[in-house]
Amino acid sequence: MDFTLSKEHEMARTLFREFAEKEVKPLAIEVDETEEFPKATVEKMAKAGFMGIPIPKEYGGQGCDVLTYAMCVEELAKVCGTTAVIVSAHTSLCCDPILTYGTEEQKQKYLPDLASGKKIGAFGLTEPGAGTDAQGQQTKAVLEGDEWVLNGSKIFITNGKEADVYVIFAITGMIEKRGRMTKEISAFIVEKGTPGFSFGTKEKKMGIRGSSTYELIFTDCRIPKDNMLGQQGKGFGIAMHTLDGGRIGIAAQALGIGEGALDRTIAYVQERKQFGRAIGAFQNTQFQLADMATKAQAAQFMVYKAACTKDQYTKDHKTSYNVEAAMAKLYAAEMAMEVTTKAVQLHGGYGYTREYEVERMMRDAKITEIYEGTSEVQRMVISANLLK
Ligand SMILES: Cc1cc2nc3c(=O)[nH]c(=O)nc-3n(C[C@H](O)[C@H](O)[C@H](O)COP(=O)(O)OP(=O)(O)OC[C@H]3O[C@@H](n4cnc5c(N)ncnc54)[C@H](O)[C@@H]3O)c2cc1C
Repeated sequence: MDFTLSKEHEMARTLFREFAEKEVKPLAIEVDETEEFPKATVEKMAKAGFMGIPIPKEYGGQGCDVLTYAMCVEELAKVCGTTAVIVSAHTSLCCDPILTYGTEEQKQKYLPDLASGKKIGAFGLTEPGAGTDAQGQQTKAVLEGDEWVLNGSKIFITNGKEADVYVIFAITGMIEKRGRMTKEISAFIVEKGTPGFSFGTKEKKMGIRGSSTYELIFTDCRIPKDNMLGQQGKGFGIAMHTLDGGRIGIAAQALGIGEGALDRTIAYVQERKQFGRAIGAFQNTQFQLADMATKAQAAQFMVYKAACTKDQYTKDHKTSYNVEAAMAKLYAAEMAMEVTTKAVQLHGGYGYTREYEVERMMRDAKITEIYEGTSEVQRMVISANLLK
């Protein structure tokens, strides 16, 4: 066991941190206030190679490991939760399933543009009636000649409308399982601009307000037969496996948000004076900071361990990382919520204003307990493994 990062990882972290400080931090308030997708920043991230970090070089990516990718999301989230989730959804939820389940033709066709950031990716699983119960979906895909015809809708899709490539799940039939008829779910790659594919409501959100969260609508949307991702009927497994990886990205986002709030609070309590001394001199402040830092450190180890376990899977296609990912997401998300709440408290009244940014971090932290599987779902995954 080695807790020290390699020289390459340290160098990568410095690169991500400098980019975040120079390009992302100055815009974070504006992105939150205007609720506008930070297009120019995404273009800069694309140029810097951030949109294809764990994609192999042969498909135009950086060929780095999952830990490097997680550190990128972490460093971005320290200053802007929105920018971090754009990279995470694109990489973990769109590039990764195409890399894992795509045919060689699909990989050649989609991955180079996604990895270079020329195109952005998204993932559409959730429906109004199918959130935690992802099998309850209604969107259908029917094969007509050489085309699949999609009808239905998806909600809450991160990178919606901004993305060019969507991994979409739909019912392709009914199959008998242990004497009961159940839905057969398959995965598809759908491109923006396909006739019959449009965008509905844009969500007005509490946090990550620059992330574009849209409803997707499919009305007799015809896609080539070859755009099925993986085998017919294997869609549910593809969605679940993809989310295992996505949870590492969200755990890294939560970790960064917590760390960012902690950094700001340490600076603030050393500067702010009451009763003739810095509020950092009060033991309550010191103990709060100690708890915040200890939990952030624990979360970091869990996130890095989950990332390294996924790296092992990339090498042997055997190692399972779903429990590590669920634990990392659960813990990091709850840490982020607790740390940001304490950060606001330690900033006093100023923490409640939009000038000090810790209130934004608290709003951004909340979603990490909800999307890519709520904290309750993570507990289900962890306990199912304990009791199997
Ligand atoms: C900003 C945002 C971005 C998102 N991005 C995407 C995206 O890119 N792609 C995508 O497909 N989806 C996305 N989602 C959807 C997200 O993953 C779901 O909102 C989430 O999985 C929860 O589903 P739900 O909202 O329907 O809540 P519900 O499933 O209705 O859950 C409500 C509550 O009930 C609890 N609950 C439900 N079932 C159980 C159970 N069996 N046991 C115990 N508790 C239970 C839940 O934990 C939760 O606390 C996004 C959502 C948001 C808000």
